[in-house]
Amino acid sequence: METPPFLQAIAVSKLYPGERLAGVKKTSLTIQPGKITAIIGESGSGKSTLLRLLYGVLSLDEGEVQFKGERIWGPEEKLIPGHDAMKMVTQDTDGLNVFAKVWDNIAVLLPNTDVKAKEKNTEQVLNQLNMLRLAEKRVADLSGGEKQRVAIARALITRPEVLLLDEPFNQVDTSFREGLQQDIRQIVKETGLTVIMVSHDPAEVLSMADELLVLKEGEILEAGHPKKLYQNPEHLYTACLLTNCNILSNSEAMLCGITSVKEYIVIYPEWAAVTNSWTRKDWTVKQILFKGNYEDLLLEKNGVTLRVWNNRQEKYHTGDMVNLKIHKHIGY
Ligand code: ADP
Ligand code: MG
Repeated sequence: METPPFLQAIAVSKLYPGERLAGVKKTSLTIQPGKITAIIGESGSGKSTLLRLLYGVLSLDEGEVQFKGERIWGPEEKLIPGHDAMKMVTQDTDGLNVFAKVWDNIAVLLPNTDVKAKEKNTEQVLNQLNMLRLAEKRVADLSGGEKQRVAIARALITRPEVLLLDEPFNQVDTSFREGLQQDIRQIVKETGLTVIMVSHDPAEVLSMADELLVLKEGEILEAGHPKKLYQNPEHLYTACLLTNCNILSNSEAMLCGITSVKEYIVIYPEWAAVTNSWTRKDWTVKQILFKGNYEDLLLEKNGVTLRVWNNRQEKYHTGDMVNLKIHKHIGY
């Protein structure tokens, strides 16, 4: 017999009536075990709804979710909603006991029947999440990012097979966020944990996901490896989600030397470069935005503005006339 998919949604719908019918619409997907699947979409596209349907904490209007071939029960069919093999972490850390120590917040979820195992497992999870040094601190004394780590440790201590993350890094500083993302990647690699995360942050999904699903108005528009979706998005919506790209009409694109029958032409900031050529200096540097280790140049020519990356800082100045080479574009 063929083994059933690990986790699968089959034409699931959950619709909220309103001005426009919102929610999740007849969506099917398969989640690979031991991988990080990320779902990206604009705000209101149905990311949280889809995640909660997969978990079984939201009742379906239509369709079915299956875990290892078995239908997942909805919240009205189960005493404690949510599949037992899964845990979910969201932005809110309200579930933590702020007056208790980090260690106790995590250990409390394990039974007292085997105290040795309880100690060992708590220590292991704290270690995996690089927070052993926080063990004796009160949760109330932690930073937002540290609290988020405690919430994740609490989810992992009972060794779920699937960890669901609903934009849990939103409140976390950038520097903290990267460390936490790396630790989760490492845990996935070491333990075979399956992670499904939703986010609207391209940097996050591009660096973390093995598989990326793009959600638009409750439907999956496209899916694939983040690199593939980034380099060759099939839809304009995907390009706009994943990068701060330039979108030109085809007549504007003509000014850049691009002839196309497509309605819109997309040029990523790194697909164009200012060159040293002495000929055809027909773009004006309108504005320079300092970005730390690179600059964004806003260039203008006959009313068309293009955002272009430049890593040779301070080489150009506002008002300079420059030559521009565009080496890639996509039409939609
Ligand atoms: P996302 O997480 O992508 O921002 P959500 O899944 O939270 O989106 O919501 C998708 C859509 O469904 C939104 O338009 C939202 O307003 C609507 N929605 C979500 N939950 C409810 C609810 N309980 N009642 C009514 N509408 C809802
Ligand atoms: Mg959401």
